[in-house]
Amino acid sequence: MSEERSSSLSEPASPDPIRRLRRTRMTETLRSMVRETELSTNDFIYPQFVVPGKNFRKEIGSMPGVFQLSIDQLIRECAEVQSLGIPAVILFGIPETKDETGSSAYDEHGIVQEAIRAIKKNVPGLLVITDVCLCEYTSHGHCGIVRGNDILNDESIKLLAKEALTHAQAGADMVAPSDMFDGRVQAIRTVLDANNFQTIPIMSYAAKYASGFYGPFREAAESTPKFGDRRSHQMDPANSNEALREVEQDILEGADIVMVKPALSYLDVIRRVKDRFGMPTAAYNVSGEYSMIKAAGKNGWIDEQRVMMEVLTSIKRAGADLILTYFAKEAARIVNAKRSS
Ligand SMILES: [Zn+2]
Repeated sequence: MSEERSSSLSEPASPDPIRRLRRTRMTETLRSMVRETELSTNDFIYPQFVVPGKNFRKEIGSMPGVFQLSIDQLIRECAEVQSLGIPAVILFGIPETKDETGSSAYDEHGIVQEAIRAIKKNVPGLLVITDVCLCEYTSHGHCGIVRGNDILNDESIKLLAKEALTHAQAGADMVAPSDMFDGRVQAIRTVLDANNFQTIPIMSYAAKYASGFYGPFREAAESTPKFGDRRSHQMDPANSNEALREVEQDILEGADIVMVKPALSYLDVIRRVKDRFGMPTAAYNVSGEYSMIKAAGKNGWIDEQRVMMEVLTSIKRAGADLILTYFAKEAARIVNAKRSS
Protein backbone atom coordinates (compact mmCIF):
# COMPACT_ATOMS: atom_id res chain seq x y z
CA MET A 1 0.00 0.00 0.00
CA SER A 2 2.70 2.45 0.96
CA GLU A 3 4.68 1.66 -2.21
CA GLU A 4 1.65 2.22 -4.33
CA ARG A 5 1.05 5.54 -2.65
CA SER A 6 4.58 6.80 -3.10
CA SER A 7 4.40 6.22 -6.87
CA SER A 8 1.22 8.24 -7.28
CA LEU A 9 1.45 11.64 -8.94
CA SER A 10 -0.12 13.45 -6.05
CA GLU A 11 2.68 12.55 -3.66
CA PRO A 12 6.29 13.01 -4.73
CA ALA A 13 8.52 9.97 -4.28
CA SER A 14 11.09 11.89 -2.25
CA PRO A 15 11.79 15.43 -1.06
CA ASP A 16 14.33 15.65 -3.92
CA PRO A 17 12.13 14.97 -6.94
CA ILE A 18 13.52 13.82 -10.28
CA ARG A 19 10.94 15.91 -12.05
CA ARG A 20 11.77 19.55 -11.48
CA LEU A 21 9.63 21.57 -13.83
CA ARG A 22 11.48 24.72 -12.88
CA ARG A 23 14.67 23.57 -14.63
CA THR A 24 13.55 24.92 -18.01
CA ARG A 25 12.52 28.24 -16.48
CA MET A 26 15.88 29.23 -15.04
CA THR A 27 17.12 31.52 -17.85
CA GLU A 28 15.43 33.60 -20.53
CA THR A 29 17.29 31.60 -23.17
CA LEU A 30 15.80 28.36 -21.92
CA ARG A 31 12.39 29.89 -21.43
CA SER A 32 12.39 31.15 -25.00
CA MET A 33 13.46 27.70 -26.28
CA VAL A 34 10.53 25.89 -24.66
CA ARG A 35 7.95 28.64 -25.25
CA GLU A 36 4.83 27.12 -26.80
CA THR A 37 3.08 30.23 -28.05
CA GLU A 38 4.73 33.21 -29.66
CA LEU A 39 2.95 36.20 -31.12
CA SER A 40 3.82 37.26 -34.64
CA THR A 41 2.74 40.37 -36.53
CA ASN A 42 1.08 37.93 -38.95
CA ASP A 43 -1.46 37.13 -36.25
CA PHE A 44 -2.95 40.62 -36.22
CA ILE A 45 -5.81 42.31 -38.04
CA TYR A 46 -6.21 46.02 -37.28
CA PRO A 47 -9.76 47.44 -37.14
CA GLN A 48 -10.28 50.89 -38.68
CA PHE A 49 -13.21 53.32 -38.57
CA VAL A 50 -13.60 55.38 -41.71
CA VAL A 51 -15.73 58.51 -41.93
CA PRO A 52 -16.63 61.01 -44.67
CA GLY A 53 -14.70 64.25 -45.06
CA LYS A 54 -11.09 65.33 -45.46
CA ASN A 55 -8.26 65.59 -43.00
CA PHE A 56 -10.52 64.30 -40.24
CA ARG A 57 -8.97 62.48 -37.32
CA LYS A 58 -10.92 62.16 -34.11
CA GLU A 59 -9.83 60.06 -31.16
CA ILE A 60 -12.55 57.89 -29.63
CA GLY A 61 -12.98 58.99 -26.02
CA SER A 62 -13.35 55.53 -24.56
CA MET A 63 -10.63 54.02 -26.78
CA PRO A 64 -7.42 56.05 -26.42
CA GLY A 65 -5.18 55.62 -29.47
CA VAL A 66 -8.06 54.62 -31.77
CA PHE A 67 -9.44 57.14 -34.26
CA GLN A 68 -12.25 57.81 -36.66
CA LEU A 69 -10.42 58.70 -39.87
CA SER A 70 -11.30 60.27 -43.19
CA ILE A 71 -9.98 58.36 -46.20
CA ASP A 72 -6.84 60.52 -46.66
CA GLN A 73 -5.91 59.91 -43.01
CA LEU A 74 -6.84 56.24 -43.25
CA ILE A 75 -4.34 55.77 -46.06
CA ARG A 76 -1.55 57.18 -43.89
CA GLU A 77 -2.60 54.90 -41.06
CA CYS A 78 -2.70 51.89 -43.38
CA ALA A 79 0.81 52.66 -44.65
CA GLU A 80 2.03 52.63 -41.06
CA VAL A 81 0.17 49.39 -40.36
CA GLN A 82 1.86 47.79 -43.35
CA SER A 83 5.30 49.10 -42.39
CA LEU A 84 4.90 47.39 -39.00
CA GLY A 85 4.37 44.05 -40.74
CA ILE A 86 0.67 43.77 -39.93
CA PRO A 87 -0.87 42.02 -42.93
CA ALA A 88 -4.49 43.18 -42.79
CA VAL A 89 -7.02 45.78 -41.73
CA ILE A 90 -10.76 45.37 -41.25
CA LEU A 91 -12.89 48.36 -42.19
CA PHE A 92 -15.97 49.73 -40.44
CA GLY A 93 -17.77 52.63 -42.10
CA ILE A 94 -19.64 55.56 -40.63
CA PRO A 95 -21.78 56.93 -43.47
CA GLU A 96 -22.90 60.47 -44.26
CA THR A 97 -26.55 59.51 -44.01
CA LYS A 98 -28.49 56.71 -42.36
CA ASP A 99 -31.92 55.38 -43.29
CA GLU A 100 -34.35 52.59 -42.45
CA THR A 101 -32.74 50.07 -44.80
CA GLY A 102 -29.12 51.12 -44.42
CA SER A 103 -28.89 51.87 -48.12
CA SER A 104 -25.47 53.54 -47.96
CA ALA A 105 -24.07 50.16 -46.87
CA TYR A 106 -24.57 48.79 -50.39
CA ASP A 107 -23.97 52.01 -52.33
CA GLU A 108 -21.08 51.45 -54.72
CA HIS A 109 -19.81 54.90 -53.73
CA GLY A 110 -20.38 54.37 -50.03
CA ILE A 111 -17.72 55.28 -47.49
CA VAL A 112 -16.26 51.77 -47.17
CA GLN A 113 -16.34 51.13 -50.92
CA GLU A 114 -14.38 54.36 -51.54
CA ALA A 115 -12.00 53.55 -48.71
CA ILE A 116 -11.25 50.13 -50.21
CA ARG A 117 -10.40 51.70 -53.58
CA ALA A 118 -8.15 54.28 -51.94
CA ILE A 119 -6.25 51.71 -49.86
CA LYS A 120 -5.84 49.34 -52.78
CA LYS A 121 -4.43 52.18 -54.89
CA ASN A 122 -2.17 53.75 -52.27
CA VAL A 123 -1.16 50.84 -50.03
CA PRO A 124 -1.09 47.85 -52.38
CA GLY A 125 -0.28 44.59 -50.69
CA LEU A 126 -2.19 45.39 -47.52
CA LEU A 127 -5.05 42.92 -47.20
CA VAL A 128 -8.40 44.68 -46.91
CA ILE A 129 -11.18 42.90 -45.03
CA THR A 130 -14.58 44.53 -44.69
CA ASP A 131 -17.10 44.21 -41.93
CA VAL A 132 -20.46 43.41 -43.52
CA CYS A 133 -23.41 44.58 -41.46
CA LEU A 134 -26.12 47.22 -41.54
CA CYS A 135 -26.06 48.59 -38.00
CA GLU A 136 -23.70 51.47 -38.79
CA TYR A 137 -25.95 52.45 -41.70
CA THR A 138 -29.50 52.12 -40.38
CA SER A 139 -31.28 55.03 -38.70
CA HIS A 140 -32.48 52.68 -35.93
CA GLY A 141 -29.02 51.16 -35.39
CA HIS A 142 -30.11 47.56 -35.89
CA CYS A 143 -28.22 45.05 -38.02
CA GLY A 144 -31.09 44.48 -40.43
CA ILE A 145 -34.54 45.49 -41.56
CA VAL A 146 -36.92 46.18 -38.70
CA ARG A 147 -40.69 45.62 -38.81
CA GLY A 148 -42.56 46.37 -35.62
CA ASN A 149 -40.42 44.84 -32.91
CA ASP A 150 -38.88 42.22 -35.19
CA ILE A 151 -35.55 42.26 -36.97
CA LEU A 152 -36.30 40.42 -40.19
CA ASN A 153 -33.87 37.67 -41.07
CA ASP A 154 -34.45 36.68 -44.67
CA GLU A 155 -34.99 40.22 -45.98
CA SER A 156 -31.87 41.43 -44.19
CA ILE A 157 -29.48 38.80 -45.52
CA LYS A 158 -30.33 39.80 -49.08
CA LEU A 159 -29.09 43.30 -48.29
CA LEU A 160 -25.98 41.94 -46.60
CA ALA A 161 -25.18 39.94 -49.73
CA LYS A 162 -25.61 43.10 -51.79
CA GLU A 163 -23.28 44.96 -49.42
CA ALA A 164 -20.64 42.23 -49.62
CA LEU A 165 -20.81 42.29 -53.41
CA THR A 166 -20.16 46.05 -53.56
CA HIS A 167 -17.16 45.56 -51.26
CA ALA A 168 -15.76 42.85 -53.53
CA GLN A 169 -16.38 44.99 -56.59
CA ALA A 170 -14.48 47.84 -54.97
CA GLY A 171 -11.51 45.52 -54.41
CA ALA A 172 -11.94 44.03 -50.93
CA ASP A 173 -9.82 40.91 -50.39
CA MET A 174 -12.17 39.32 -47.85
CA VAL A 175 -15.63 40.00 -46.44
CA ALA A 176 -16.67 39.45 -42.85
CA PRO A 177 -20.39 39.29 -42.03
CA SER A 178 -20.97 40.27 -38.40
CA ASP A 179 -24.76 40.25 -38.13
CA MET A 180 -25.46 36.71 -36.81
CA PHE A 181 -28.59 36.25 -38.93
CA ASP A 182 -29.30 32.73 -40.15
CA GLY A 183 -28.19 31.88 -43.66
CA ARG A 184 -26.11 35.00 -44.33
CA VAL A 185 -22.90 33.17 -45.23
CA GLN A 186 -24.65 31.13 -47.89
CA ALA A 187 -26.48 34.20 -49.21
CA ILE A 188 -23.19 36.09 -49.53
CA ARG A 189 -21.32 33.11 -51.02
CA THR A 190 -24.03 32.63 -53.65
CA VAL A 191 -24.02 36.26 -54.73
CA LEU A 192 -20.21 36.50 -54.78
CA ASP A 193 -19.91 33.33 -56.86
CA ALA A 194 -22.58 34.45 -59.30
CA ASN A 195 -20.53 37.60 -59.91
CA ASN A 196 -17.16 35.95 -60.47
CA PHE A 197 -15.82 36.45 -56.98
CA GLN A 198 -15.41 32.72 -56.26
CA THR A 199 -11.97 33.29 -54.74
CA ILE A 200 -12.94 35.99 -52.22
CA PRO A 201 -12.95 34.31 -48.80
CA ILE A 202 -15.59 34.85 -46.14
CA MET A 203 -14.55 35.30 -42.53
CA SER A 204 -17.77 34.84 -40.57
CA TYR A 205 -18.42 36.21 -37.14
CA ALA A 206 -19.63 32.70 -36.39
CA ALA A 207 -20.01 32.74 -32.61
CA LYS A 208 -20.75 36.34 -31.71
CA TYR A 209 -22.15 36.94 -28.27
CA ALA A 210 -24.53 39.65 -27.04
CA SER A 211 -21.80 41.20 -24.91
CA GLY A 212 -21.36 44.18 -22.65
CA PHE A 213 -17.80 44.44 -23.92
CA TYR A 214 -18.93 46.18 -27.13
CA GLY A 215 -19.75 49.47 -25.38
CA PRO A 216 -16.80 51.59 -26.57
CA PHE A 217 -17.10 50.22 -30.15
CA ARG A 218 -20.59 51.64 -30.41
CA GLU A 219 -19.17 55.07 -29.70
CA ALA A 220 -16.54 54.47 -32.39
CA ALA A 221 -18.93 53.12 -35.01
CA GLU A 222 -21.91 55.23 -33.94
CA SER A 223 -24.05 52.09 -34.05
CA THR A 224 -25.94 51.96 -30.76
CA PRO A 225 -29.48 50.63 -31.35
CA LYS A 226 -32.08 53.34 -30.79
CA PHE A 227 -34.40 50.80 -29.13
CA GLY A 228 -34.12 47.22 -27.94
CA ASP A 229 -30.92 45.21 -28.14
CA ARG A 230 -29.25 42.48 -30.21
CA ARG A 231 -30.20 39.48 -28.10
CA SER A 232 -32.56 38.05 -30.71
CA HIS A 233 -29.64 37.30 -33.04
CA GLN A 234 -26.40 37.45 -31.02
CA MET A 235 -25.64 34.58 -28.67
CA ASP A 236 -26.27 34.18 -24.97
CA PRO A 237 -22.93 34.46 -23.12
CA ALA A 238 -23.87 31.37 -21.11
CA ASN A 239 -23.78 29.00 -24.11
CA SER A 240 -20.90 27.17 -25.73
CA ASN A 241 -22.50 24.05 -27.25
CA GLU A 242 -24.63 26.45 -29.25
CA ALA A 243 -21.44 28.17 -30.43
CA LEU A 244 -20.34 24.91 -31.99
CA ARG A 245 -23.65 24.61 -33.81
CA GLU A 246 -23.32 28.20 -35.07
CA VAL A 247 -19.78 27.60 -36.27
CA GLU A 248 -20.70 24.31 -37.93
CA GLN A 249 -23.57 26.01 -39.73
CA ASP A 250 -21.31 28.76 -41.10
CA ILE A 251 -18.74 26.20 -42.27
CA LEU A 252 -21.48 24.26 -44.08
CA GLU A 253 -22.58 27.50 -45.74
CA GLY A 254 -19.06 28.20 -46.98
CA ALA A 255 -17.21 30.20 -44.33
CA ASP A 256 -13.43 30.04 -44.85
CA ILE A 257 -12.43 31.51 -41.49
CA VAL A 258 -14.63 31.37 -38.39
CA MET A 259 -14.55 33.95 -35.63
CA VAL A 260 -15.37 34.01 -31.95
CA LYS A 261 -16.28 37.42 -30.52
CA PRO A 262 -15.45 38.69 -27.90
CA ALA A 263 -12.20 36.89 -27.11
CA LEU A 264 -11.20 37.22 -23.50
CA SER A 265 -14.32 35.93 -21.74
CA TYR A 266 -14.68 33.24 -24.42
CA LEU A 267 -11.26 31.57 -24.51
CA ASP A 268 -12.94 28.23 -23.79
CA VAL A 269 -15.16 28.72 -26.84
CA ILE A 270 -12.14 29.50 -29.04
CA ARG A 271 -10.47 26.29 -27.84
CA ARG A 272 -13.58 24.16 -28.44
CA VAL A 273 -14.06 25.62 -31.91
CA LYS A 274 -10.43 25.03 -32.83
CA ASP A 275 -10.39 21.47 -31.49
CA ARG A 276 -13.68 20.49 -33.07
CA PHE A 277 -13.30 21.96 -36.55
CA GLY A 278 -9.59 22.67 -37.09
CA MET A 279 -10.58 25.67 -39.20
CA PRO A 280 -8.60 28.88 -39.49
CA THR A 281 -9.99 30.56 -36.40
CA ALA A 282 -10.15 34.24 -35.61
CA ALA A 283 -10.92 35.98 -32.33
CA TYR A 284 -12.00 39.57 -31.83
CA ASN A 285 -10.24 41.22 -28.90
CA VAL A 286 -13.06 43.74 -28.61
CA SER A 287 -13.27 47.38 -27.61
CA GLY A 288 -14.21 46.81 -23.97
CA GLU A 289 -11.25 44.46 -23.52
CA TYR A 290 -9.02 47.16 -24.98
CA SER A 291 -10.51 50.02 -22.98
CA MET A 292 -10.25 48.20 -19.64
CA ILE A 293 -6.53 47.67 -20.11
CA LYS A 294 -6.02 51.24 -21.33
CA ALA A 295 -7.91 52.68 -18.38
CA ALA A 296 -6.15 50.56 -15.78
CA GLY A 297 -2.80 51.31 -17.45
CA LYS A 298 -3.47 55.05 -17.39
CA ASN A 299 -4.23 54.85 -13.69
CA GLY A 300 -1.01 52.97 -13.01
CA TRP A 301 -2.96 49.98 -11.71
CA ILE A 302 -1.39 47.51 -14.13
CA ASP A 303 1.65 47.32 -16.41
CA GLU A 304 -0.28 48.06 -19.59
CA GLN A 305 2.17 46.61 -22.13
CA ARG A 306 2.72 43.47 -20.14
CA VAL A 307 -1.01 42.85 -19.70
CA MET A 308 -1.62 43.58 -23.39
CA MET A 309 0.93 40.95 -24.46
CA GLU A 310 -0.37 38.47 -21.89
CA VAL A 311 -3.93 38.85 -23.14
CA LEU A 312 -2.97 38.55 -26.81
CA THR A 313 -0.82 35.51 -26.07
CA SER A 314 -3.69 33.88 -24.18
CA ILE A 315 -6.00 34.36 -27.16
CA LYS A 316 -3.48 32.68 -29.46
CA ARG A 317 -2.79 29.94 -26.90
CA ALA A 318 -6.55 29.27 -26.74
CA GLY A 319 -6.44 28.41 -30.46
CA ALA A 320 -6.87 31.63 -32.42
CA ASP A 321 -4.81 31.91 -35.61
CA LEU A 322 -5.90 35.49 -36.20
CA ILE A 323 -6.58 38.22 -33.67
CA LEU A 324 -8.56 41.31 -34.51
CA THR A 325 -7.21 43.84 -32.06
CA TYR A 326 -6.92 47.57 -31.45
CA PHE A 327 -3.55 46.73 -29.88
CA ALA A 328 -2.18 45.52 -33.24
CA LYS A 329 0.23 48.41 -33.80
CA GLU A 330 1.52 48.53 -30.22
CA ALA A 331 1.94 44.77 -30.05
CA ALA A 332 3.64 44.69 -33.46
CA ARG A 333 6.21 47.21 -32.24
CA ILE A 334 7.06 44.98 -29.30
CA VAL A 335 7.18 41.83 -31.44
CA ASN A 336 9.42 43.58 -33.99
CA ALA A 337 11.77 44.96 -31.31
CA LYS A 338 12.14 41.49 -29.80
CA ARG A 339 12.92 39.99 -33.19
CA SER A 340 15.63 42.52 -33.96
CA SER A 341 17.25 42.39 -30.53
ZN1 LIG B 1 -24.48 44.87 -36.81
